[in-house]
Amino acid sequence: MTAPQPRPTVLNIPPYVAGKAPVERPGLVSYKLSSNENPYPPLPGVLEAAERAAATMNRYPDMGNARLFAALSETFDVPVEDLAVGTGSVGLLYGLIAAFCQPGEEVVYAWRSFEAYPIAVLAGGATSVQVPLLPDGRHDLAAMAAAVTERTRVVLLCTPNNPTGPALTQQEVDDFLAAVPPEVLVVIDEAYVEFVRLEGAVDGLATYRAHDNVLLTRTFSKAYGLAGFRVGYAVGPAPIAAALRAVALPFGVSAVAEAAAVASLAARDELLERVEALVAERTRVHAGLRELGWPVPDPQGNFVWFGFPGESAAIAAFATAAEERRLMVRPLGTDGLRVTIGEPEANDRLLALAGDLRAPSA
Ligand SMILES: *Cc1c(COP(=O)(O)O)cnc(C)c1O
Repeated sequence: MTAPQPRPTVLNIPPYVAGKAPVERPGLVSYKLSSNENPYPPLPGVLEAAERAAATMNRYPDMGNARLFAALSETFDVPVEDLAVGTGSVGLLYGLIAAFCQPGEEVVYAWRSFEAYPIAVLAGGATSVQVPLLPDGRHDLAAMAAAVTERTRVVLLCTPNNPTGPALTQQEVDDFLAAVPPEVLVVIDEAYVEFVRLEGAVDGLATYRAHDNVLLTRTFSKAYGLAGFRVGYAVGPAPIAAALRAVALPFGVSAVAEAAAVASLAARDELLERVEALVAERTRVHAGLRELGWPVPDPQGNFVWFGFPGESAAIAAFATAAEERRLMVRPLGTDGLRVTIGEPEANDRLLALAGDLRAPSA
């Protein structure tokens, strides 16, 4: 062995499977419902702000993304010291593994959950402890608390859970935090927080304010529609946020991304209107699927979940039938498929497809 070798764990990192791009077919509009993206064009003022920033591409972004920190601090009423920003919230996830885990130390999270978790944990040299979801797609928090050992450094809670959809309640999270030692960092991944309408859902900001070991991660990729620009932020106790800033990639949030994020925060009213429209579509799709007999778990993000545990053939058949109708959906292993809530026409087409395919329980 004379060639340079990466750490052995690097060879075990599963590839991140991105959502399929639409396949064009004349006469039929294609819809990409495979990556939980926002179907809307940029919010008012955002494109202009990004264009102005693009004109200064020969310069580095402002030192420390001060404008973005100030805008986040004001919008969410949190001290600047409690914030970190990164190249998408996935960038922050890599940072927190780097900052909190020694090689081989454990990160506990539910599975199936966000595909980036196992990749980030392995990339950081830590070890994943995956706790199976309950049959209804919710976190099994009792089992997750029981999976915490003296090797556990971080727990990731995903609410609402990508890809299954249910959100955590405040009571569930409070009970969980009471059962976990205070030296374990509990990360609440709120990538879809703007879409949550569940009564009694966890209030991430209130929870972080009440605990010294709770960190929130959020993103501009989903509700804000800036997935292509890669901006996320974390909110947590000052020492934890400082650790994240310490390991952050210098200038990881570009000037263009920063300008777009700041302008998006300023357009919050329009943003919330769009989110409301997507939530209404989600409610319509969920009700329609239930009526057809599909046991779709409570969707609190901008996506719905079709569970087919262990049924590879059914998953492949669903994905193929969707593709024939020019709907790109996301099959996930042998567990099921996730479909993003898109334009009303795309959602209508999904309902028609689900009506033509037989529901497992119907
Ligand atoms: C999409 C998503 C993210 C956000 O990723 P970015 O890197 O910010 O684009 C984080 N967590 C979950 C659960 C997601 O689904």
